Amino acid sequence: MRYLQQFMLFFFAIGVTFLSFAQQAVEQGIPPANSGEISVFLIVLGTAQDAGSPHIACEKECCATLFKNQDASRKVVSLGVIDSKAKKTFLFEATPDIAVQLRRLRTHSGFQNTDIPNGIFLTHAHIGHYTGLMYLGKEATNTKQVPVYTMPKMMGFLETNGPWGQLVSNQNIALKPLQNKNETQLTPDLKVIPFTVPHRDEYSETVGYKIIGPNKSALFIPDIDKWEKWETDIVSEIAKVDYAFLDATFYDGEEINNRDISEIPHPFVIESLVLFENLSP
Ligand SMILES: [Zn+2]
Ligand SMILES: [Zn+2]
Repeated sequence: MRYLQQFMLFFFAIGVTFLSFAQQAVEQGIPPANSGEISVFLIVLGTAQDAGSPHIACEKECCATLFKNQDASRKVVSLGVIDSKAKKTFLFEATPDIAVQLRRLRTHSGFQNTDIPNGIFLTHAHIGHYTGLMYLGKEATNTKQVPVYTMPKMMGFLETNGPWGQLVSNQNIALKPLQNKNETQLTPDLKVIPFTVPHRDEYSETVGYKIIGPNKSALFIPDIDKWEKWETDIVSEIAKVDYAFLDATFYDGEEINNRDISEIPHPFVIESLVLFENLSP
């Protein structure tokens, strides 16, 4: 269990964590502007499942108090990356909590004078992962050509379906094509590689990302079906990076006993724990 705290941060299990690619330490909420030579940072902006917290129509005790007093740290899964040398910020996932998440990213950057980042990376077309884009449109900020990086099927989905197509035609967003396993160099110190993973791909393919800084790298797979369905070995992929942020939607089959679990397959945390047991710290 200890190695998990160092190497893996399950989305449901952590609050707000601030990571540096250039430093082993995991720091809490220290703005990069105060951090000397470290230039590329990663910040966890959310860890919750698509529907957020509290969860709509939840009758259980877990959400009862959250309906009365929302917990500001419980936001939908998202990562922010800050390159303080290049003075650029990037957002991974456009969640329904995007307004607060972008403000946090800006605050941590220490240099940005707008909440709008220099690029947004999407994994797939499930509600928690892209619908935050709506806040870039006319009814909200009416942004100008924010680069949105997507895979081909996801791009076609955004272009041809309302209201997303309006963001494209109004040039609120500028779609940037990604290809499976092709590297995108974002700044001299930062590159990103998307890779497809098995998931319910009704509207888009689903990808994870490898985010590579000058000294450290991270794996980001917010949604995937069972690990066994992926042709890639997750254990060896984790071993290649410094940090892995992985799907931990459900602890076990008992946790979601009011829905047919076979229709919403995710790796259970208890399964991942067994699979990752032999990874060295
Ligand atoms: Zn999801
Ligand atoms: Zn999904």
